[in-house]
Amino acid sequence: MVKYIYKKYKSALNKLKFPDPWFWARYTINPYSGCTHACIYCDARSQRYYLEDFENEIIIKENIVKKLDQTISRSRTLLPDVIGPGGVCDAYQPIEEKIENTRNILKIVIKHNYPVNIATKNRLIIRDIDILKKIAENTWSTIGFSITTLDEEIASILEPFSTLPKERITAIKEIKQKAPKIQVGTYFIPNIPFVCDSDDNIERIIKESKDAGADFIVFSPSLTIRDLQKVYFIKKLNNSKLKIIVEPLLKLYNKNNYAPFEYTKKLNKTFLKYCEKYKLPIRIKRWIPLDYRKWNYKIAELLLNKEYMESMKSGRRNKSMMWAGLYLNNLKESIMEIYKRGELGKLTNFSKSIIDYVSPYLEKSKDFNQKKGIDRFI
Ligand code: SF4
Repeated sequence: MVKYIYKKYKSALNKLKFPDPWFWARYTINPYSGCTHACIYCDARSQRYYLEDFENEIIIKENIVKKLDQTISRSRTLLPDVIGPGGVCDAYQPIEEKIENTRNILKIVIKHNYPVNIATKNRLIIRDIDILKKIAENTWSTIGFSITTLDEEIASILEPFSTLPKERITAIKEIKQKAPKIQVGTYFIPNIPFVCDSDDNIERIIKESKDAGADFIVFSPSLTIRDLQKVYFIKKLNNSKLKIIVEPLLKLYNKNNYAPFEYTKKLNKTFLKYCEKYKLPIRIKRWIPLDYRKWNYKIAELLLNKEYMESMKSGRRNKSMMWAGLYLNNLKESIMEIYKRGELGKLTNFSKSIIDYVSPYLEKSKDFNQKKGIDRFI
């Protein structure tokens, strides 16, 4: 029996130090605390989130909409950027149908002209297509459905109270038909080793996403397992027909929180192979502001996409390029002005190779508007 508790909070919006380089969210907001979707692998059960009875005790943040409006209206420093509702809860878990915290948050998002990116496992999001469509027309609106299996029996073990995966695929199709400007796709996250990592399963999800009209599919090869989340996950697996994976899973992780490098490298290659076959992008196209941050965000996207693609292929991170891209988002003036002064070398982590890489883009764009310049390259 789920217990619902109404609670007032002092703050609504959480600003990240850097935008998330996968989902491009700069702000997060959780309309609820806890989640009745109760996925057995959910990371929100781990100790770092301090959520006691995660799926049975749901806190409804009763003042969150008003707080969000006040925070944005009264702030002199907040700049519009991507808001990601959810994170340690699904913003469209069943109680949302009655409470409408997420829907009302979206009304504030549209009022202040902010972009939005929502990840969900519930087709209830279709209800809010009217608002999400307007946000897409005003700024940028992205929706991602987490799908890692299309097998209903397996899904009912892993994600017992979410919309069935096939219905999530149908939801992608429906959104693309009703609101083509909304960027919509699949999050192949989290991959469960020995359950979701077969070639057949990966290819099928990529193909079905593409056929449904998805704009992207984002993939992460390694499920994190740690402390209380691990205990719960293993217990639930042991009580199901998936208990056969427990031993190989624990052996693969070898007491670490992540799957080993060789495993993730091989899986990334498989994933890339099928995305190329079906011509499905593996990155979400970023929202670009029209103020002084425009070139900073474009060049940051360029660097972070390059770093991501190369690490997918080689298995090695280029941390220097990654930090160069991340810090660029926080620059207080336009990189174009810095480029024109010949001072790119003063930027954080801008080594000679990075300067050589980005300079042609800036050079081509410096005398043109955005349509004639860098947009041709991204
Ligand atoms: S939908 Fe997301 S937040 Fe909710 S239980 Fe599943 S993984 Fe956790």
